[in-house]
Amino acid sequence: MVEGRVVFITGAASGIGLAIGKAFARQRAKVVLTDIDKDKVQKAAAEIADEGFTCIGLACDVTNEEAVDEAFAETLRVFGRVDILINNAGMQYLAKLEDFPTETFEKMTRIMLTAPFSMMKKAIPIMKKQKHGRIINMSSINGVIGFAGKAGYNSAKHGLIGLTKVAALEGAEHGITVNALCPGYVDTPLVRNQLEDLAADRGVTLEKALEEVIYPLVPQKRLLAPQEVADYALFLAGDQAKSVTGQSVLIDGGYTAQ
Ligand code: NAD
Repeated sequence: MVEGRVVFITGAASGIGLAIGKAFARQRAKVVLTDIDKDKVQKAAAEIADEGFTCIGLACDVTNEEAVDEAFAETLRVFGRVDILINNAGMQYLAKLEDFPTETFEKMTRIMLTAPFSMMKKAIPIMKKQKHGRIINMSSINGVIGFAGKAGYNSAKHGLIGLTKVAALEGAEHGITVNALCPGYVDTPLVRNQLEDLAADRGVTLEKALEEVIYPLVPQKRLLAPQEVADYALFLAGDQAKSVTGQSVLIDGGYTAQ
């Protein structure tokens, strides 16, 4: 369903973004992996290309307008269009609100809210000309419920859901859909790092920390695989989801059903 489509993914050297890149490549989309980590993203893209798929890797810090412009220009130079934009780059930082450094709060907001805004500002005019576009913004369960200690993350992910609705309304009559994915705990380096800190604080193994702290919160009692989020991105990017827009899709093993 996404065969031949050009997909531009941010934060794609690792975790969910990389899984999405691989899933789209296997469906014969033309994949542009971008990330702030140039070496890692180029290595990841080369591995996908070596398997016979169409994939390039570009350095792109989503908070740097010039870098974003260059990445879009290179995508248009190589592939001539941008059909699907996946705003996925993200970071995590935990602290009580009164201890939360303002500069960290601002950095998180820049990466996970202002950057998707800027990326959509650039992608929507291209998609309007094509009369077709799919935008997927990576929010989180933290975009729909609150978590103590996550002032930066929660604010950005809640804001991203509002921004998704605005973009969906503005894109609706131009063949553009805009949706947010809201995963629960997915097994990626971002979550592993959090778990390692948690395990160290409690003086237990990572597996024990999962059993004691995370699994009691997740009805399915497991971490999700990045591929499960990628499968949903594939669905939203395809023609079968053309009537789905402005939505926040929870992929959370039952977390928010409680
Ligand atoms: P990850 O750490 O594996 O990947 C994040 C990627 O973003 C990294 O490759 C990193 O280099 C890149 N990045 C960071 N800052 C950047 C910047 N300024 N410009 C460009 N790239 C940058 O994390 P992940 O778990 O795969 O997370 C991907 C997205 O999914 C994030 O937006 C995250 O908030 C969201 N998410 C993750 C989970 C989870 O449980 N892992 C759950 C819900 C939502």
